[in-house]
Amino acid sequence: MGRAESESTAALDRAHTKALAWLSSLDERPVPAQASVEEMIAALEPELPTGSTSAEEVIALLGDAAPPGLVAMPSGRFFGFVIGGTHPAGLAADWLVSAWDQNSALYAVTPTHSALERITKDWLLDLLGLPGSADVGFVTGGTMANFTCLAAARDALLRQAGWDVAQHGLAGAPRVRVIAGAERHDTIDLSLRMLGLGAPDLVAVDEQGRLRVDALREALEGASGPVCVCLQAGNIHSGACDPMTEAIAVAHEAGAWVHVDGAFGLWAAASERTRHLVAGMEAADSWSTDAHKTLNVPYDCGIAIVAAPAALHAAMGMHGDYLIADDQARDPLETVPELSRRGRVVPVWAVLRTLGRSGVAELVDRLCGHARAFEVQIAEIPGCTVLNEVVFTQVSLALQDDAATSRAVERIMADGECWMTGSRWRDRAVVRISVSNWSTTEDDVRRSVAALRRASATSQT
Ligand SMILES: *Cc1c(COP(=O)(O)O)cnc(C)c1O
Repeated sequence: MGRAESESTAALDRAHTKALAWLSSLDERPVPAQASVEEMIAALEPELPTGSTSAEEVIALLGDAAPPGLVAMPSGRFFGFVIGGTHPAGLAADWLVSAWDQNSALYAVTPTHSALERITKDWLLDLLGLPGSADVGFVTGGTMANFTCLAAARDALLRQAGWDVAQHGLAGAPRVRVIAGAERHDTIDLSLRMLGLGAPDLVAVDEQGRLRVDALREALEGASGPVCVCLQAGNIHSGACDPMTEAIAVAHEAGAWVHVDGAFGLWAAASERTRHLVAGMEAADSWSTDAHKTLNVPYDCGIAIVAAPAALHAAMGMHGDYLIADDQARDPLETVPELSRRGRVVPVWAVLRTLGRSGVAELVDRLCGHARAFEVQIAEIPGCTVLNEVVFTQVSLALQDDAATSRAVERIMADGECWMTGSRWRDRAVVRISVSNWSTTEDDVRRSVAALRRASATSQT
């Protein structure tokens, strides 16, 4: 064995052992971190050593020191934000991605990666019920997926208006008006800001946070010039989806580009039981989603989908004016903001290949089933009220007033059995439960409801 090889073997063996120790601790360890940043800086030895250390020793140090400052995000009792776990196939495939170390920017340079992108693109479009002719970019997350899709939208809308934004920039360009529901995700605003488009015009939503079509129609009345309408599949508080069929029809009548932010909710399309929530969304012009939420691949992986491949390539490519003879053979760099990047598609392929079509549907159904179990069991906790219609994976609840709800959130976190996030929705403090982890069991739900019951009993006024 050569020196480099034995160093790799020793370091990887350590990483393997430490990774398994972490995973096997998940069922019993408290979910929130047990050490502060300052404590972790001390534990991680902040002085840069003068001399070298073996890779094996460094991995051992990391594996031993890190856990107290880690959150059990891959635990089945982590319901914070909207955060998926890591399916074993995704985790193991991600290790291979690092070992293979492919810079996956160019189609012809990395055949295995390019093949996996082509296969996975087709699987995704099929599972999500989207047009097979759309193109797909694998980016870092939902934020960059929104950014990528909205860049394609901006450039295409301005091109139609006779303005070449790649050549002339935005100064002096016609204004691109962007319209979104009042409860769109903040990353829409962030993406628009990065694209120089300013804040979106907001239209009214209903009690579940769904954009109201009458309000959209009104906002579009008499509109002239380029317009982009951002719809949402999956409201982070209610899980509700905007009324796709009607909203898209109204927007298209006005000549708008329609983008759907479905970071976690787009996956409703993968199950017969939830498909109705996003029915009609296939008529939109672009869609963004995450693979690191509902699909449970490791960070970081988002997916940008654009119906007109040329619009995506024109916005993200680096060749300016050109024609791609073979859309299948386009370089991955034509579909994402990055040039160099890791083989982000590989874990997506591995999880889809492991689950199969029915497994993906079952995953979505299972997450939704746990969310409904929360709804039913929370109804039995005195003083707790579920505020949303539980149609997907999200549950928002409140105690009798904001002070009691906020106290309950603090007590849940101090208790450590599970993680639920405090938030504000419909002008009140809420406790938000997002069921996004493939490994959550009925027992995890029961244990977490018990923790909520304990927290609630001591938080009521
Ligand atoms: C999580 C989320 C995003 C942002 O995705 P990241 O992967 O965190 O960048 C955007 N929109 C919605 C609806 C989300 O839930």
